[in-house]
Amino acid sequence: MADEIRVAVAGAGGRMGRTLVNAVHQTDGLAVSAATEQTESGLLGVDAGDVAGIGPLGVAIRSDLDEVLGEFDVLIDFTTPDATMHNLRLCRDARARTVIGTTGLSPSQREAVSEAAIDIALVYAPNMSVGVNLCFKLLETAARVMGDDVDIEIVEAHHRHKVDAPSGTALRMGEVIADALGRDLNQVAVYGRQGHTGPRERQTIGFETIRAGDTVGEHTVWFAADGERVEITHRASSRMTFARGAVRAAKWVAGLERGQFDMQDVLGLNDQG
Ligand code: NAP
Repeated sequence: MADEIRVAVAGAGGRMGRTLVNAVHQTDGLAVSAATEQTESGLLGVDAGDVAGIGPLGVAIRSDLDEVLGEFDVLIDFTTPDATMHNLRLCRDARARTVIGTTGLSPSQREAVSEAAIDIALVYAPNMSVGVNLCFKLLETAARVMGDDVDIEIVEAHHRHKVDAPSGTALRMGEVIADALGRDLNQVAVYGRQGHTGPRERQTIGFETIRAGDTVGEHTVWFAADGERVEITHRASSRMTFARGAVRAAKWVAGLERGQFDMQDVLGLNDQG
């Protein structure tokens, strides 16, 4: 591999895509070498740097990743589940690494991610912020200490444009807590409440979703007992926090051959027991 890691950004006209182009360009040792958008986009042919608001980079936005295969070492993909699946197939065939931030993947799409990792190295994480990944660790500890004696509720808020709910991060938080308590999230999750719900069952894990304004991303987990409550909260105020995490993941995965990893691996949190 050349000294400089060549990065392709999928969905370069999106909210995360623009931020990613900026973050990659700011990072020593990485360069934006390709960018894509969907085939109907009005941004095709436009310079990805201009779209990101940082001035021209000499990288025109293309309509499909297959037009730029061989021009990148790592793809960073924050698009839609269908686009991510298409790009993943191309990366697998071309043996290119990929960092997937797209949320809302179905169970079979998640399975396809795991299968692709037989041939290529990839990082797949619903939230690439360092702070959120630290929170996953804190949640595991809180669940172990308090879990069976408290009611656990996960409250998340995002901007009005977000299309999936609950957020991928909230679901991951639920999985981390359920795993720590030996519960199966599919059996215990309760999504929103309305009408005559009856009293709360202790083993359930509740999810509440807020969609409002330009909220970048907020998550609070309640561990509520009689007489006291612990809350673990993460608030993202800028998309750059996710983009920097994705760039860190791209640098980290560039040196690997195959396997599926998450941000806990990238940050070395899995080694800390
Ligand atoms: P967005 O603004 O809608 O960006 C998605 C972009 O992908 C859009 O520009 C869209 O184009 C484009 N796109 C659609 N199909 C494509 C294709 N086939 N090829 C290339 N580009 C295509 O959404 P966002 O807020 O940036 O979020 C994108 C994804 O990242 C979501 O799943 C979100 O939940 C996730 N996310 C993850 C993290 C994390 O840390 N993992 C953080 C933030 C967001 P059109 O708009 O023209 O359709």
